[in-house]
Amino acid sequence: MRKAAQARRSRMIRTLLLLSLAFALAEGRLAWIQLVRHGSDRQGLVEAAFAERIDELTVDWGRGRLMDRKGRPLTDEPVRALAAFPLYGMPRGTEEAVRRAAMALDADPRQLTRWLAGLRAPDVWRLPNSRQPMALTPDREAQIRDAALLGVYVLPYANRYVSSVDPLHAIGYISQDPQRLARLYAKRLSQRRMVVSDPIGGSGLEKSLDRFLRGAGPTRVGLVTDAARRPLDGLGLRTEAPNNPHYPLQVRTTLDLDIQREVLETMKAAGVREGAAVVLDAANADVLAMASFPRLNPERIGAPGTDERNRAIAAYAPGSVFKIVTLAAALESGTAELDSDFRCDGAYVRYGLRCWKPEGHGELTLEEAFAESCNVAFAEVAEKMDPAWIQITAFRLGLGRRIGWSEDRFLDGRPLRLLGEEEAGTIFTDPQTAQDGGVRTGTGIGQRDVRVTPLQAANLVVTLLHGGRVQAPRIVSEIRYADGGLAARLEPQRNPSKYGEIRPETAAAVLEAMRAVVTEGTARRALSGSAWPLAGKSGTAEQAGALRGRNDHWFVGYGPAKGTARYAVAVLIQNQPAGLRNRAAAAFGQIMERLRALELRSRQPAAGVQAETPRILRGEDGSNS
Ligand SMILES: [Zn+2]
Repeated sequence: MRKAAQARRSRMIRTLLLLSLAFALAEGRLAWIQLVRHGSDRQGLVEAAFAERIDELTVDWGRGRLMDRKGRPLTDEPVRALAAFPLYGMPRGTEEAVRRAAMALDADPRQLTRWLAGLRAPDVWRLPNSRQPMALTPDREAQIRDAALLGVYVLPYANRYVSSVDPLHAIGYISQDPQRLARLYAKRLSQRRMVVSDPIGGSGLEKSLDRFLRGAGPTRVGLVTDAARRPLDGLGLRTEAPNNPHYPLQVRTTLDLDIQREVLETMKAAGVREGAAVVLDAANADVLAMASFPRLNPERIGAPGTDERNRAIAAYAPGSVFKIVTLAAALESGTAELDSDFRCDGAYVRYGLRCWKPEGHGELTLEEAFAESCNVAFAEVAEKMDPAWIQITAFRLGLGRRIGWSEDRFLDGRPLRLLGEEEAGTIFTDPQTAQDGGVRTGTGIGQRDVRVTPLQAANLVVTLLHGGRVQAPRIVSEIRYADGGLAARLEPQRNPSKYGEIRPETAAAVLEAMRAVVTEGTARRALSGSAWPLAGKSGTAEQAGALRGRNDHWFVGYGPAKGTARYAVAVLIQNQPAGLRNRAAAAFGQIMERLRALELRSRQPAAGVQAETPRILRGEDGSNS
């Protein structure tokens, strides 16, 4: 019954969407469509599309807006920008007027004159070395208006990238890509609802949601001129906007700008150049923050020192973080219990495998071996097990497949995967070699072919906190029309393995062992003094090939580890010189401390201030000063 109702509802939503799209076309685009050059052959289409709007300036692409979970904008900052139209050699104004306008832009008058003279199409004045228009303060705007240069205006402009928000890999970038656009939107292009020079999402949500973000079309401003292309007195500018109350769509993400900023600051303060961090809501695996390094420069893809690839959803060798899986597999298969005894003499001779502690850990239980991250005990456990146990347990814990929120039939009946670039990772690349003891022991300690994404690693923790139920991390919660109507609600999803789940007792035992890592194991020094009790697992993955001698540092865990866990966090710091102590544990601790501080602030803002006041007013000796 519910299924049928849902199907009916989604059919209705789809019809509504189509209707409003048709409406948008009829209302908004008709005027432009009539202006398109006549060449109806497909060959001429591309040229016509480029030539079509040479005299107009796009001030707003009308693209769907993205916002954080509290409604704060992640795209489209409204600014006032200087816009100029080409005048083909006609004088703009006196030298003095140009000088005054240039001053308002912090520019050299010659630079402004050159730019104005060189215009072949209308354009906005941009920040140095940037595609971003310069945002004008009211003072600067007044100065420019006073200068009254011919064909120069101050216009409202929607900046796709918000200046106060660090570019987010999860949001991605837009750029011109006529070939891809032609491939994806052939129909819309042939119907003249689009031109090949329109921007298209190149990564992140800009890419995965592109077909919904397109909206009803851009807002364009044209200059009304006479036959000699002189601006007409009194007519000035003509604005064409889609005039459709439903667009642009409003996409509410699950990201929290405050948390995102704290994570970025932690990683920057730690000097991380390569790596990633993910913060998930422990309650439902919503993505609260997702950071990736090197940073994204949405305006200059491929620029040195930047990387558009989102490493939070790229798969890397997890090192000892994978012992979480090996431990769970050992408990599930009955190979060992937390209190089973092992012995480490510093090496697992049969496969030439060494413990990180050269003198060995001596006698220890499996729980202690986990807390101490003993390679020898875990190699022994892995060797004893049928490799299928490791593989199936990994699958049951949400590894080895793309884990993020997806739907086979979204609003338009086509599949949608929110994190489109997400990698699946691997456990064993070849089931045959898994029979080999060396492969098995290596896998058991997270080497060999094992690859895990930071998102999977954080989600693995959420899975354990939910007694083995795997969630599908969501990064968008709802899509609304511009006028507030709901277009789609993206409900939290689960992502169960076809092999079922681990037992809740296993999940509880693994969580207990993760707590021991902090109270008495490898992360004691970094994390035992934290204000929130924490739990987790560190990992150091040795690189091969060109990066031999370099290590990736991991830490994944949750907090608080007593009471209700609020956050699951994965930190990956890459390409560190060998021999360095794991730096990810400290970064994890700092992120958790910042999360705690944010919670305290949001819980009692007013009361906190009041409680502070009497103390501030009192002098050192307790008297009122
Ligand atoms: Zn050991």
